[in-house]
Amino acid sequence: MDTTLKISKIKDGTVIDHIPSGKALKVLAILGIDNSNSISIGIHVMSGKLKFKDVIKIENKYLEKLELDKIALIAHEATISIIKNYEIIEKFTLDMPDKFKGIVKCANQNCITNSGEPIKSEFKTVSVEPLTIKCIYCRKEMEGEEIINNI
Ligand SMILES: [Zn+2]
Repeated sequence: MDTTLKISKIKDGTVIDHIPSGKALKVLAILGIDNSNSISIGIHVMSGKLKFKDVIKIENKYLEKLELDKIALIAHEATISIIKNYEIIEKFTLDMPDKFKGIVKCANQNCITNSGEPIKSEFKTVSVEPLTIKCIYCRKEMEGEEIINNI
């Protein structure tokens, strides 16, 4: 069954597919999409593997590396399709970066990155499933909601 037919096609833009069900709105929130983009969202869509997923289509927008890294923090299972003139010209899965710089705020209030010094936060990926990242300065480990709430 080809579930991609259920969601209306876009002419140019980006499709973020196979987002774990329930996470689409979080993905949109961290991307900071504003009113200048036309967006379609499918929430709790039946996926081919008898699972449910979320799908986001954003017209006239192509994602940058920083945005892809942010999505990886929330939904690393997602696939990205680049659409031009109704055709998929590129499709890829997200790479889990081995480090995240300046994206996540360290949850440790005493961390030097929260001290007002001009030091960007930096985390190393410790494990992918479940995603755990570790601050290179104070060694605080963060996962799940704690990461999402600090993006
Ligand atoms: Zn820290």
